[in-house]
Amino acid sequence: MCTIMEEAARGASDRRIREIAERERVTERFLLSGIASGRIVMPCNPAHDPVPAAIGEGLLVKVNANVGTSRDMPDAEAEIRKMDTAIRYGADAVMDLSTGGDIDTIRHMMLARCPVMMGSVPIYEVGLAAARRKAVVDMTEDDIFSGIETHAKDGMDFMTVHCGITRETMKWIRDSGRIMDVVSRGGSFLTAWILHNEEENPLFENFDYLLELARKYEFTLSLGDGFRPGCVSDASDQAQIGELATLGHLVRRAREAGVQAMVEGPGHMTIDQIPANVKMEKTLCGGAPFYVLGPLATDIAPGYDHITSAIGGAIAAQNGADFLCYVTPAEHLSLPDEGDVKEGVIAAKIAAHAGDLSRGLGKDRDDAMARARKTLDWEGMYKVCLDEEKARRYRARGCTGASEGCSMCGDVCAVKIVNDYLVKDRGALGPNTRFDCD
Ligand code: SF4
Repeated sequence: MCTIMEEAARGASDRRIREIAERERVTERFLLSGIASGRIVMPCNPAHDPVPAAIGEGLLVKVNANVGTSRDMPDAEAEIRKMDTAIRYGADAVMDLSTGGDIDTIRHMMLARCPVMMGSVPIYEVGLAAARRKAVVDMTEDDIFSGIETHAKDGMDFMTVHCGITRETMKWIRDSGRIMDVVSRGGSFLTAWILHNEEENPLFENFDYLLELARKYEFTLSLGDGFRPGCVSDASDQAQIGELATLGHLVRRAREAGVQAMVEGPGHMTIDQIPANVKMEKTLCGGAPFYVLGPLATDIAPGYDHITSAIGGAIAAQNGADFLCYVTPAEHLSLPDEGDVKEGVIAAKIAAHAGDLSRGLGKDRDDAMARARKTLDWEGMYKVCLDEEKARRYRARGCTGASEGCSMCGDVCAVKIVNDYLVKDRGALGPNTRFDCD
């Protein structure tokens, strides 16, 4: 059976391609050629069949929200509510990173309910199972591939697989002089596994088998950056770039096998380094969609890392990153609650949209907001804003009804004054234009 990539190479359009092309305002041909070349991916496991969506060159920047239980907070229902919240505020994809409670059941519940693309990191579950038996480093190659196959059968549309951590790239991490060494959880499992077992990473060694699974179940590889920098001092070092070069090689092999692949990226990084990092990924990985975690522009703001990551995410998106993984205010501190998830998604959506605007995409919404502001049309503003509930709540503060504006300037609302004199003088607003204060 042909894969999505092979169907695209044949120029075969279908319902999903038509839907995406219409939403993204691109031609079906553009989309098919992007998928065929690997510069665009459409993660879509038939066992899940999410709302069709695509990630990559020439398309709107997408946002992912991570949810999932932990050992200390294993409440599945709470994670489902977080997933719903993330989607309500515009997450294009959700990853289930559960590590507590009945992980299989939680995954099934989420997949059954999740309308958007869903991803996972199977090695978490595999490593935890091994740790319960003895230690993470005792997971076997069979455990790793069985874990991936289980998630594939269940319907995961994309999966993070840390294939770029090899015995060779390990040397660079050992001698790197990094402050934080390895901060990726999956990366830490495989780093420890390689050191303990003195064997090659099975995901690298048997990459062809991984490709067979990806073909069979039609899931997209999200090639993980196990050596992503965990602090700004560790960014853009030999270990990070060496792993990226390895991933570029694996992207080529995936494409040859008709398997969709995207590449994950940093991490913590000062903003001056972000453009070069995006360009490097696009060059080394043949234009594969770049999926970044942040980048977090500084290390000093725990409690506000949705902001540090949105700063980095906007710059990454401006320079060509295609997919932003949200970061919540709880990052580095605790499992996020529902409010943190909402804030994280909105911050990432702002970053993605700012990137889109800089790439000439998605300005209609900003224009609608500007027009509504110009006519003090509050309902119009609420309709296009990212968080209507917050906008209404803030607007209501101090609103006495005496002014068409808001409680910021009261009677001397600049917009109203200019409308009353300059715009009416031009004749742009009709005599019946009303300014209503809610
Ligand atoms: S009162 Fe001031 S802040 Fe409020 S809408 Fe008018 S100009 Fe804007």
